[in-house]
Amino acid sequence: MPRVLITDTTLRDAHQSKIATRMRTEDMLPICPKLDQVGFWSLEVWGGATFDACLRFLKEDPWERLRKLRRALPNTRLQMLLRGQNLLGYRHYSDDVVRAFVSRAANNGMDVFRIFDALNDVRNLRVSIEAVKATGRHAQGAISYTTSPVHTIEGFVAMAKELEDMGCDSIAVKDMAGLLTPAVTCTLMPALAAAVRVPIALHSHATSGLSAICQFLAAERGCYHVDTAISALSDGASHPATESIVAAFRDTQWDTGLDLALLQEIGFYFYAVRKKYRQFESEFTGLDTRVQVTQVPGGMISNLSNQLREQGALDRINEVLAEIPRVRQDLGFPPLVTPTSQIVGAQALFNVLTGTRYKNITNEVKLYLQGKYGSAPGLVNASVRQQAIGNEPVIECRPADLLLAEMENLRSQIEGTAHSEEDVLSYAMFPEVGRKFLEDRNAEKLQPELLEPMPRKNSPPSEVPSEAPVDFRVTLHGETYHIKVTGAGHQAKGQRPFYVTLDGMPEEVLVETIGDTVESGHSPQGRPKATKPGHVTTSMPSTLIEVLVQVGQEVKAGTPVLVTEAMKMETEIHAPVSGTVLVIHVSKGDHVVPDEALIEIG
Ligand code: MN
Repeated sequence: MPRVLITDTTLRDAHQSKIATRMRTEDMLPICPKLDQVGFWSLEVWGGATFDACLRFLKEDPWERLRKLRRALPNTRLQMLLRGQNLLGYRHYSDDVVRAFVSRAANNGMDVFRIFDALNDVRNLRVSIEAVKATGRHAQGAISYTTSPVHTIEGFVAMAKELEDMGCDSIAVKDMAGLLTPAVTCTLMPALAAAVRVPIALHSHATSGLSAICQFLAAERGCYHVDTAISALSDGASHPATESIVAAFRDTQWDTGLDLALLQEIGFYFYAVRKKYRQFESEFTGLDTRVQVTQVPGGMISNLSNQLREQGALDRINEVLAEIPRVRQDLGFPPLVTPTSQIVGAQALFNVLTGTRYKNITNEVKLYLQGKYGSAPGLVNASVRQQAIGNEPVIECRPADLLLAEMENLRSQIEGTAHSEEDVLSYAMFPEVGRKFLEDRNAEKLQPELLEPMPRKNSPPSEVPSEAPVDFRVTLHGETYHIKVTGAGHQAKGQRPFYVTLDGMPEEVLVETIGDTVESGHSPQGRPKATKPGHVTTSMPSTLIEVLVQVGQEVKAGTPVLVTEAMKMETEIHAPVSGTVLVIHVSKGDHVVPDEALIEIG
């Protein structure tokens, strides 16, 4: 009987699941010599969220992190999670970008690429698998596990065979939501093991508390490779504890052979590290069993709760949770994983908050229904599709077949700012965040958001601020917090929500006004309140990503005038009346909230 092999996810998925992907390289490197001694099959160290968080929050070069880990872990395979043709981003990239990315990742030290597609459309995996094979590294094809009337054991087995035929060196079952049950494990694993010759691995989140049981049953049934996380960052939204699983298989025929005493030392190290990041711990640090009832992953529920709280509509969470399966059915039952989890979740939220289903359809749902993400697992709702895209054609081919080579173009877009092919790829993955990171790095202006004291401005003590501050630090019980007021929502029942970031993390404070208030008729951003039919407003707090009109332009009612982004989804805002654009109060990148006049049409 083979030993059970362990992929430890502490340096990627575990801190992504437990502390919002905030662990810094400086907190990883000191423990690497010990991690390298353990004998893990691999260490998962990289993925879309880690790459994004490095550039956006930590102000670290993700490529530099990879090179440092490579040097610090000479004896252990390094593994990453790749979103197929989406690579680490949210859109489909052309094949030349996929090849360039995989080649640079391998060159910088990556050994194992776990590749998945949100729709399990294997056409979206083909080029990345080929690219990994071309580098001589390990290509692991992943099946995004979900449950629905169109997902069957036979379907998953057929996909596993296709992945094997495409050259995958192993197959992973990716249970990102913690949906897998012991009963399904006992039928799925032997079916997969009988169908393919390559090894099978199990990645199952501990969210609902079942994954450790599933891992043991999987090993009894032909899957000898499981994902775990060191105890300090294990369980709940993360993975079963490495130490526990090693102990669970001890003295069985699948004994991992790993040194528990050494793992304890590593555990204590991360126990101390985790304390530094406690402000990023999610609400559900323990079990969240809701997924077994609602089929909605815990991570999605907390994102949606945050959005609803911003709207002052947290009491509608159950309506949204009931709407998600309906939207998912309308879209042909996609598994809920990046990016489909955001696409389905945001549309469900819009359907509930606007009061009319599909009154407001996100651009991503339109693209999805055009086939631009690949083919849906099941049939999509034809009337929803008609409403979303009318008679626009639905593509049948692999989405990336429609994309022209784009590396050359990307290089020229970031020329002078990017100093390497890796820089170009950082920009390609996250255009705005990536560009800003590179510009700040070149100007030596990188300021991490956390853990380092903010530079203090010297202002004379006699200076009295003429207006309420919107960006300040408060010290409470010896802890200093950086607070930034980012906007305000609807006034309701004598309370008004103000949105603030607390050390870079979005928070909300409810303000009950006492005594006199200054009624300026302007929002905190200085925009007038929407009072007339010709005032263009947003229904959601969001970021403005495009202004489509100019002052003086004639528009018809219904013409798209703005594009906003909320929950990573884009929505067009239409002109409420016909007329001339008189004033534009916003520009690209602004944070906008309900009740503000963003554009005036008269
Ligand atoms: Mn995961």
